[in-house]
Amino acid sequence: MMYLSTRGDPTERRFCDILLEGLAPDGGLYLPLRYPRVDAATLERWRGLSYAGLAFEILSLYIDDIPAADLRALVDRTYTEAVFGTPEITPLKPLEPGLALQALSNGPTLAFKDMAMQLLGQLFEYELGRRGEPLNILGATSGDTGSAAEYAMRGKRGVKVFMLSPHGRMSPFQQAQMFSLQDANIHNLAVRGVFDDCQDIVKAVSADLAFKRRHHIGTVNSINWARLLAQVVYYFAGWFQATRDGAERVSFAVPSGNFGNICAGHVARCMGLPIHRLVLATNENDVLDEFFRTGRYRPRGSAETHETSSPSMDISKASNFERFVFDVLGRDAGRTRSLFGPALAERGEFVLAPQEFARLAEFGFVSGRSTHADRIATIRATHATHGVTVDPHTADGLKVARERREPGETMLVLETALPAKFAATIVEALGHEPARPPATVGIEALPKRGELVPADVETVKAYIASHA
Ligand SMILES: *Cc1c(COP(=O)(O)O)cnc(C)c1O
Repeated sequence: MMYLSTRGDPTERRFCDILLEGLAPDGGLYLPLRYPRVDAATLERWRGLSYAGLAFEILSLYIDDIPAADLRALVDRTYTEAVFGTPEITPLKPLEPGLALQALSNGPTLAFKDMAMQLLGQLFEYELGRRGEPLNILGATSGDTGSAAEYAMRGKRGVKVFMLSPHGRMSPFQQAQMFSLQDANIHNLAVRGVFDDCQDIVKAVSADLAFKRRHHIGTVNSINWARLLAQVVYYFAGWFQATRDGAERVSFAVPSGNFGNICAGHVARCMGLPIHRLVLATNENDVLDEFFRTGRYRPRGSAETHETSSPSMDISKASNFERFVFDVLGRDAGRTRSLFGPALAERGEFVLAPQEFARLAEFGFVSGRSTHADRIATIRATHATHGVTVDPHTADGLKVARERREPGETMLVLETALPAKFAATIVEALGHEPARPPATVGIEALPKRGELVPADVETVKAYIASHA
């Protein structure tokens, strides 16, 4: 399989050429040349496979520059009961007829980001070993992504992680998750500032190309194609479980921010998985809901981005969205460039032409929005009726799923985090602390390892230079 850029860069690339990359050189995102089609007979054959077996089959369609036996060993090492808690890896948790949660958050950091990041850790270690090169991952986090990256990369040969986080602004649980790691290749830098300061430092360091090259600096951001590909697998796994239990029309409701999770659902659907609809849920930051209702895409500035109680969906601009729009535009790279290129920064928005907007219907998307009051009400009602506690992000998905569900449709709501990660909102809704998985009990009291630094680019560069 070869890969292209959504903005038309003609260079042909294979999977391992883009594995460690973010944006394509022309500013576009990488996608496979085409989506391999899976027919009904193949689907039936895959039904009986383990999660790792299924992951191997799907990844093999997209990766032809890693020998099959090696790829098989990498996925077998990734998707284990020891890491993800159950033999199904992403089991369904039925709430009522036609409505279930799909559990994606039983990995080490209690959020769905582990599903892809754990595989990325294996792939990076493998590929860097083949090349005989090191990699220093530099990132900024306000919570879920940073911890998922650290737990995936801890102890991996050839990889070091330098993660910036805003000092004193993450929840005590999230802070403890990251700062309690004692692995020598994990470096936590607590920055005296806010998340935007952290992100600005990462951008400034990455803009210094000489420094970047000298110290082998890379990222693991949400636009990485391998992350998205790993996420395609659980749509198949969810569909197999629901149809085994008798569902005929299966849809997925997805709490969305950067459009990475639901874009994997779009890819699965394009491969021929019979997904009836993809239901996109936003919080008060409703850039994507506005798009699906009107065809207008209007990224917000940071001043217009609300801080909500589902913080991992507080995005102003959906970094994976260009992939989907490229497909909606019939893969017209010129048109994609004209919508997303410099013109978008100048005008601050684009609007699809009427015939382009009409084409959206073929892709099965519907959308909805959820507010703080909706989250609290959904967490309460789900606890009272089903005895199940959902996290605030999953609550956004559940609220929109209920609103949109049609007769005869089975809705799988992707559980993107466990409630233990967002205790304050659970206490507000239910009046008591959420349950904690045994492995995370008491982590706040563990010894912490990290460095407190000013919000200053040169200080961070000096730290990297002496530890890379
Ligand atoms: C990252 C994240 C999301 C948003 O996922 P995207 O792929 O960015 O759309 C939703 N919920 C939780 C808990 C997350 O960590």
